Amino acid sequence: MSRTRTVEMIFAGPPTHWVGNGFEVSNYFPSGKNLLERFTPFILLDYNAPREFPPSETPKGVGQHPHRGFETVTFAFEGAVEHHDNKGNHGIIYPGDVQWMTAASGIMHKEYHEKEFSKNGGIFHMIQLWVNLPKKHKMDDPGYQAITKEQMGKVALPDGKGTVTVVAGAYDGVKGPAKSFTPMNIYIIDLQKGGTITLNEPGNFNMGMLILGGEAKVNGEACKTKDFILLKNEEGEVVIHAESDDVKIFVLSGEPIDEPIAAGGPFVMNTREELMQANEDFNNGKFGTHDF
Ligand code: MN
Repeated sequence: MSRTRTVEMIFAGPPTHWVGNGFEVSNYFPSGKNLLERFTPFILLDYNAPREFPPSETPKGVGQHPHRGFETVTFAFEGAVEHHDNKGNHGIIYPGDVQWMTAASGIMHKEYHEKEFSKNGGIFHMIQLWVNLPKKHKMDDPGYQAITKEQMGKVALPDGKGTVTVVAGAYDGVKGPAKSFTPMNIYIIDLQKGGTITLNEPGNFNMGMLILGGEAKVNGEACKTKDFILLKNEEGEVVIHAESDDVKIFVLSGEPIDEPIAAGGPFVMNTREELMQANEDFNNGKFGTHDF
């Protein structure tokens, strides 16, 4: 009999707060639980659970702001987000799409509800994840990956009761399109009632999952929508069993980046000095144009 990986903690997100006027998020970490060093390379998870926005002629969102030292990754489940940055990237992500922005040495961006979505209103459902960069890549050139739903890796489960969408890394030999700086697997799992999937991630990888919909058992522990399940770092299987229809689960699994973290606002570096440098560089216009 194969061993299972122990569930270390199950927690719900803290009360929501607004990011700009367009994203009402619960910050699972680091505010909800301070997992900053515990859960690298994943250092921030903001979850905008499904929420109805009334029609608005002026798109809601968050205006120009900088980042340095990591990547911001936005997952759209419902609604649409439009992005601009000061390196010339522009994109719209629709349900099933992912935008993977590598801030690295420095970028400024802004994110708003896409114009048509804003005009019509509707349900908005998103995740923003921050992925840390190892020291040797923090000052690389910024990058941008626009990843569409069609490009994702897809695996139909043998019981006919679910699918795995592979965003990064691989599942059962099927690769995801995202390029990452450190080894990681990011999956979105959809299951119907009675469906089961077994995940076998490397035991040293930090692993956790957020339930986006439905009810499930994870290694026998009952979990519901908006629960985050953190697994211990040990070899073993993670068996997910759907207890309802329309179970949707966001799975993160990544090799830890074993380096000190100095985080301050929109910058994530290794030392206080580098944080001060980031502030100074930003104030001295070294992040590039504000005109975008
Ligand atoms: Mn941002």
